[in-house]
Formats: sequence, C-alpha cells, structure tokens
Amino acid sequence: MEVPDYILRLKPYVPGKTIEELERTYGLSNSVKLASNENPLGPSPKAIEAIRRALKDIHRYPDGSCHRLKKRLAEMLGIQSKQIVFGNGSNEIIELLVRTFLRKDDEVIMPAPSFLMYEIIIQAAGGRPVKVPLKNMVVDLKSMAEHISVKTRMIFVNNPNNPTGTIVSSEAFEEFLDKIPRQIIVVVDEAYIEFVRDRTCPVGLRYVNSDKIVVTLRTFSKAYGLAGLRIGYGVMREELVDLIDRVRQPFNTNVLAQVGALAALDDDEFFKRTIRTVHGGLDFLYAEIDKMGLSYFPSQANFFLIDVKQDASVVFENMLRKGVIVRPMSAYGYSTYIRVNAGLPEENRRFIEALKEVL
Ligand SMILES: *Cc1c(COP(=O)(O)O)cnc(C)c1O
Repeated sequence: MEVPDYILRLKPYVPGKTIEELERTYGLSNSVKLASNENPLGPSPKAIEAIRRALKDIHRYPDGSCHRLKKRLAEMLGIQSKQIVFGNGSNEIIELLVRTFLRKDDEVIMPAPSFLMYEIIIQAAGGRPVKVPLKNMVVDLKSMAEHISVKTRMIFVNNPNNPTGTIVSSEAFEEFLDKIPRQIIVVVDEAYIEFVRDRTCPVGLRYVNSDKIVVTLRTFSKAYGLAGLRIGYGVMREELVDLIDRVRQPFNTNVLAQVGALAALDDDEFFKRTIRTVHGGLDFLYAEIDKMGLSYFPSQANFFLIDVKQDASVVFENMLRKGVIVRPMSAYGYSTYIRVNAGLPEENRRFIEALKEVL
C-alpha cells in the first residue's frame, strides 16, 4: 500500500483521558477530570431542555445552513450571518480552512508550544508547519511576522494560547497585522476568549472587515459547556465562507448541536455562573499553589500550568491513582509541568489534596 510520507510522519493526537477510561483502568470511582478544559458546571440547563425537545426530530437531516443559529449569533456579535461558518467543533473549521486554502508544500506559521491540532491538520494536508517559539511564555508575534516567506499561506494565533494561558496585547496584534501581506490568512483561535480578564486582549472579530484577511475561531466546547455535542464556528469575510461552503459536508453540524448551541447562547445565567466559577476556581488554585511554594503561570483561560519540579508524567500517573486527571505537558515540551483546569470548589480541593500527597 502506498501512503504519502507526510501521513506516515504524523503523530497521533493524545486526548485527555476520559473519566470512564481512568475508572476502568484503575478500578476507581468518583474521580475528577481537570484535564481537557471542559465546563465544570456541565451543560447549560436550557441547552439540555432544547435538546430534549428536539430529539423527536432526529430522523430529519439538519439545516445545513444553520439559519437560526447564524442569525442569532450574528446579532449577538454585531457581524453578518454570511460571515459565519459552523463546524463539528471549531477543530473542523481549522480543517476546512486548511483543505480549502492550503496547497501542498505551503507554509503555515504557528506558535510553539500551542494547540497540537494545527500541526497535525496541516501536516495531514501536505503543508509545512513553521513553529515559532514563544517568548517568555507569550506568542511571539514579532518573530512570527519575521518568518513570513513567499510560501506562507496562513498564520495561526491562539489567543489565549493553549497550553500557556497567555494572551497577546491589542497593540502587539495590530503591529503584527500591519506587517502581514494581504493574501495571507491570519487565523485567531479564540476558544478561551470568554474567560479573559485582561482588558488589553484583542478581539479577532473586530478585524473581519479590515483590509487583512482575519478569521476568528470560537467554540461552544468551553464556556458554553457543549464539548460533547461538537459545535464551533469561524467568522470571516464572505468570500471565504463561499469557498469553504463548497468544500464542507452539507450536514457537518447535527440537529442536536444546533438547537443546543442556540439555547446555550440565550442562557445568560449559566454563562455568567460559568465565568464566576472558573475565575473563583483559578484564584483559589493560585493561592494554594503559592502556599505550596510551587510556581505557576497566571492564565487568561480556564486552565493554567504548574511547575511540579519533577517528571510531570510521573506526577500525572500518581495523581491518576488518586482519581484526579490532569494533563502532563511532556508532549508540549514542558517536561516538569502539568496543566490543570479550574473545576468546582470540591474538585479544586481534591486536586490540591492529591497534589500535596503525590509531591
Ligand atoms: C478546546 C480548544 C478548541 C475547541 O475545539 P472544538 O473542536 O471546538 O471542541 C479549539 N482550539 C483550542 C486551542 C482549544 O484548546
């Protein structure tokens, strides 16, 4: 069998362990997962109710244009419906952008470490990831602009950046945009933008009508609590939407995801409670980590990095045995760091207890 060499070179993405997987392996129950930056409150109750009502319609194909959801979101964001593409998670939008606009051997500039899916998707399409190291844990936009070549087709900016939780400033972002040639697509992945507390954070949506091509990615998987439904979107110029619509499958978002997302957008009480829970959880965890004399990186997302000053994969394994799932950062090149997301108060306490015992 003949397989393209760039497919043979792919390393599979290793997702956070599921609770079921962990409990099965270690014979545990009542474990806590703080490894995939999910919403600790669960799904929005309004989304659950809307999904329950929509169950009787699942013999029908979904609305491939996501008409209602697009209309509501466009109103909310102050953009046009025609500037939105929905996907099976925002991950599918990354894939659609790459499949629509990248040619084999084109270069894509991205920060490193950052979200591992960029590299995998680009490599799977025969493109060339150009990884630019962070500077003091922050995406180095200046250096990224310096890496532009005639082959550069796209640039990914993850803001806040996963796994560091850091942001770039509006000022740095605008200086960066000024240097970008008009044919290059700048993709700003804002999966965690709802959690940002720093007012200097740029908002990608503001640049959708600018003279540079800026695509903003957002998701319902984090602040909206719908990771299992798989729905996210990209906001971009209409001409890009038209091209992507030719490439994407007509029914790429399902009936339940569409109604769930629509209801979640209208569940303001749940959204606000989520943000409060995450901010309160982070502040509690920072204080406890301080007391333990460990260092961490303050974050603008719903997760942060802790330096455990020893092999993080060992700490990860030992915490698993205590029923607490975190993410070791070895795959991202930080061998002594774990990433943990803010959970419910009780989950945060269990995490701190387990960490103290393990260290
Ligand atoms: C979680 C996450 C996403 C969301 O992906 P979905 O496919 O929408 O679930 C996107 N980008 C980054 C950096 C993330 O961490």
